[in-house]
Amino acid sequence: MTVVPGSRVAVIGAGVIGCSIGLSLARAGHDVTLIDRAPGPGLGSTSASSAIVRFHYSTYEGAALAWEAKHEWERWPEFLGVTDESGYAHYLQTGVLVLDTPGYDLTAVIGHYDRLGIPYERLSAAALRARFPYLSADAYYPPRQVADPEFWDAPTSELGAMWTPEGGFVDDPSLAAHNLWTAATAAGVRSEFRAEVVEIHRDASGVGGIRLADGRALGADLIVNAAGPHSSHLNRLAGVLEDFTVSTRPMRQEVHNLGAPATLAGGLGPTVGDGDLGTYFRFAPGGQILVGSQEPDCDPLEWLDDADSFDVAPTGPVFERQSLRLARRVPDAHVPNRPTGIAGVYDVSSDWIPIYDRTSLPGYYVAIGTSGNQFKTAPCIGAVMSALVGDGLAGGDHDSSPVHWTAPHTGAILDLSHFSRRRAPNPSSSNSVLG
Ligand SMILES: Cc1cc2nc3c(=O)[nH]c(=O)nc-3n(C[C@H](O)[C@H](O)[C@H](O)COP(=O)(O)OP(=O)(O)OC[C@H]3O[C@@H](n4cnc5c(N)ncnc54)[C@H](O)[C@@H]3O)c2cc1C
Repeated sequence: MTVVPGSRVAVIGAGVIGCSIGLSLARAGHDVTLIDRAPGPGLGSTSASSAIVRFHYSTYEGAALAWEAKHEWERWPEFLGVTDESGYAHYLQTGVLVLDTPGYDLTAVIGHYDRLGIPYERLSAAALRARFPYLSADAYYPPRQVADPEFWDAPTSELGAMWTPEGGFVDDPSLAAHNLWTAATAAGVRSEFRAEVVEIHRDASGVGGIRLADGRALGADLIVNAAGPHSSHLNRLAGVLEDFTVSTRPMRQEVHNLGAPATLAGGLGPTVGDGDLGTYFRFAPGGQILVGSQEPDCDPLEWLDDADSFDVAPTGPVFERQSLRLARRVPDAHVPNRPTGIAGVYDVSSDWIPIYDRTSLPGYYVAIGTSGNQFKTAPCIGAVMSALVGDGLAGGDHDSSPVHWTAPHTGAILDLSHFSRRRAPNPSSSNSVLG
């Protein structure tokens, strides 16, 4: 296998992660083909994303990637360097509130914020009420199922919060992927859509190429698995799983749409992590609130055996649970009388921290296990994977001599072995979507 810049790279998956990787590898001089079985970019799990940009991760590396990526979202057209005739996704800086809860110790997060220089402010319950009068400061911990009689108990106390003014969300996640794809195409990336990878070929020295469902074979010196919730399937096809100590698995998730309080008059409230009631929510243009889950212990997890086989419609019981929890925090929210929203699929790793790594098959890389929390970091993942690929091409062995990546805006230095497939599951992780 001769692998030098200019070699053929097949990136499997044209979601927000695969498009970012394609862009970065093309800019590094590679001959890249993006392959997706969908008819266009950003139509997989990316399309269901709440697209929240927040920095409270349990690990320094998680926080540092998210903080770095915020700087790219803020200058999105400049980062892309192209005009997309479909328009640009926009970063809406609403600020992020993390409500105090015994279930989420903020000590580590504050340490990361201080180290990275991320601005934040502690708010008392009184300050929370004064600044956000449509949010209740009542504390109910622990989160409960609606069928639990204690669900309806009066609040036990009141809670404060941590306010991070620079967080927010991206208004259109599929468009963001399309923007990356447009930039990648301008950088020379070819795309094969409606093209499903069904085989991964090896040759004597490593990756040989792929075969598509329509029978075509494409030669490749390098392959990047960015197949989102189908990542474990692709890894099985590649036969690389034997040295993974961290696995990935698809999980169904619902996100519901409710109406914002009329007092907001179409304005945007903050993005909120509510560990006290087990939800996260954000406001959306048009007077909407999107509410999702933080996987509290009382809720069953919906693991999928097959990432393609799931109900895309919101279900009554999950809608009821989420909307009643939300209504406790936002008492004037409008709750529709029928379930509204969507279901999407996370690609969850054993410790809810992604895997960005090489593998035992020379030339086969993975950007997987994004665990419901890596939309925001996508602008940086191309550069991270390019650093790993570049190290491999230069004869490096990231397994024994880890690559360090310097974030261009913040100067943070990340030891990329944090994202290794061979790590011990990280004991510091929240083991939830919070990462
Ligand atoms: C409901 C929900 C809410 C979320 N909210 C947030 C949030 O608020 N903030 C945040 O940061 N992150 C969030 N996330 C996570 C984030 O959206 C994902 O981490 C990210 O979009 C994953 O992108 P991806 O490109 O890896 O995967 P995908 O977008 O799923 O792309 C993978 C692509 O691979 C293709 N593919 C799969 N198998 C094959 C094959 N065999 N051959 C060819 N193509 C194939 C698929 O068609 C798909 O297009 C959320 C995710 C979900 C589902």
